[in-house]
Amino acid sequence: MNGTMKVVMKEKAQPGAILTTKQIPSFGSKEILIKVKATSICGTDYHIYSWDAWSQNRIKPPRVMGHEFSGEVVAVGSECHRVRVGDMVSAETHIVCERCLQCRTGNAHICHDCSILGVDVDGTFAEYAVIPETNAWVNDKDLDPAIGSMQEPLGNAVHTVLSGPIAGKSVAVVGCGPIGLLAVAVAKACGASSVFAVDINEYRLDLAQKLGAKTALNSKEVDVVKEIMRLTDNHGIDVSCEMSGNAAALNQQVDFLANGGRLSLLGIPTRAVEMDINKIVFKGLTIQGITGRRMYDTWYTVKGLLASGTLDVEPIITHRLPLEEYEKGMELMKSGNCGKVVLIP
Ligand SMILES: [Zn+2]
Ligand SMILES: [Zn+2]
Repeated sequence: MNGTMKVVMKEKAQPGAILTTKQIPSFGSKEILIKVKATSICGTDYHIYSWDAWSQNRIKPPRVMGHEFSGEVVAVGSECHRVRVGDMVSAETHIVCERCLQCRTGNAHICHDCSILGVDVDGTFAEYAVIPETNAWVNDKDLDPAIGSMQEPLGNAVHTVLSGPIAGKSVAVVGCGPIGLLAVAVAKACGASSVFAVDINEYRLDLAQKLGAKTALNSKEVDVVKEIMRLTDNHGIDVSCEMSGNAAALNQQVDFLANGGRLSLLGIPTRAVEMDINKIVFKGLTIQGITGRRMYDTWYTVKGLLASGTLDVEPIITHRLPLEEYEKGMELMKSGNCGKVVLIP
């Protein structure tokens, strides 16, 4: 397609990003061109925007930012047979090699040679985006594009919460950014007996309670371990979803988990964390790393949960802004006084 489009681009190796115009991208025989209807801001985008140590190592500017989106397919390559023009799609944002042992054994989410949309290839903070057909997830036509866009982080939450039994279990979600908030809603929808939300931001704790958390604990104000032990009659928590990346919070979770409990790690600490392995051993804890979404099991689960009527993620979308106001979106992310911020091109 000829013409230009507006994009939010990481133009230089420095903090910030610019709004600029760019040629509408061309696409290969196994790729599709999408007119973006909604594209949400992820923590990763904020890292790239603020130009933290991880971004400095990983990102090679210039790069169109963004990876969470939904939009309408406007053209498909000659070797595309599943996705059609007019389909509404979102995407699995991990573009995997399809050749390594992990990819060939149903574990493509931990592919050895994976590139990520908006990180390693141009992304979706744009009027148009190109993705491989295999990465496209076709949405129901009547799905709100903003919720369509949020399926990617919702997949992270579903992958974390459902990586072990959840029905009837007490669940803690530590770190209530957008994925944490989604995890609260998923745990609730999947029959957790009670959900404890832990954060340091009152806005997010409030939102967590609206989504069904029975107890919201501000770890700046209360002794989280003591409070949880008191509220669970000294039993502790069955499942903890770690979304904070905070070293102290990680150790608190080892302390408040019940013997035999599960600790699922999605948050990414910025440096090595010291932990008391004795506690993990003698409590018989299971600790698991969670990355991405299982391809494509998690996507089917997300679709099914949205269709079930028991999972309402709408309240997590707190801001819808025109693409041009991406800087305001990034400021909201920095303040923490938001759920999901969605940009509309
Ligand atoms: Zn994301
Ligand atoms: Zn692979």
